[in-house]
Amino acid sequence: MRAGRFKEDGREIHVSGAEGLFTVAGIQRAVKSYINRAMGHSKARPENITITIEEIKERPLRVPILPVTTLSCASSSEAREIIKSILLRHEIKERIIEKALNLLYSGLNMRGAILMDHITGKRLEPDRERGVRASRLGVEKESLKGLKRYLEKMGINTITVREALVLASKVAHCPDIIVEVCISDDPDYTTGYVASKEFGYQRIPSIKKRGDRAGGRVFFVRHGSDIDGIIYYLEKRPVVCVMR
Ligand code: AMP
Repeated sequence: MRAGRFKEDGREIHVSGAEGLFTVAGIQRAVKSYINRAMGHSKARPENITITIEEIKERPLRVPILPVTTLSCASSSEAREIIKSILLRHEIKERIIEKALNLLYSGLNMRGAILMDHITGKRLEPDRERGVRASRLGVEKESLKGLKRYLEKMGINTITVREALVLASKVAHCPDIIVEVCISDDPDYTTGYVASKEFGYQRIPSIKKRGDRAGGRVFFVRHGSDIDGIIYYLEKRPVVCVMR
């Protein structure tokens, strides 16, 4: 699902987007909930909502759900320092980290993510306005209860967290993506995360101030990797996440 609204200058703002893998029997319910989500989004009331339904022919890849931790953080400036220290542990250089953070805090209004070369900092997504959107992802049916229980114990069993965790788990299992940073563009949602296969899904509260519309995602891509292969994996490869 994607929902947008046109500004006075004719440019479209991205209001809301979501994707999932469903059985045929689950389609109606999913579509209904996507429409409700688009219409109730706190960012803006959408002018157009597009729903695309595609049959999946490829057998989904199974990847484990990343372990979740919540870090302690009281302000966006502290968040920047925390993100920096995590990215440094992934061998991303300070100059590249600054570039990524400046982009993320600048109000990108992209539908998808930035792909950033982890050595040069070059942006590699073919369309800089749109970005690359991870799609065709979901939770294995047998794992959903376990996932809910796992998050419930931490008091964070919400659709927002479940969906972000599933997205991050798919992304982290792309062999050429080293680490992801996410700030929601929802003005009411101020917890972001850094996620990687190596260190799991690390939630960062107060990553931005309430009311701030800025947000986005950066996927740091291993230098010299096959970009078309990465985009295929993110956009097209069906992946279901499982609880271990
Ligand atoms: P959200 O967490 O939905 O508020 O999204 C925050 C930002 O992450 C959006 O503004 C997009 O730039 C990006 N984003 C959202 N969904 C996806 C996705 N499925 N794949 C890649 N990037 C995404």
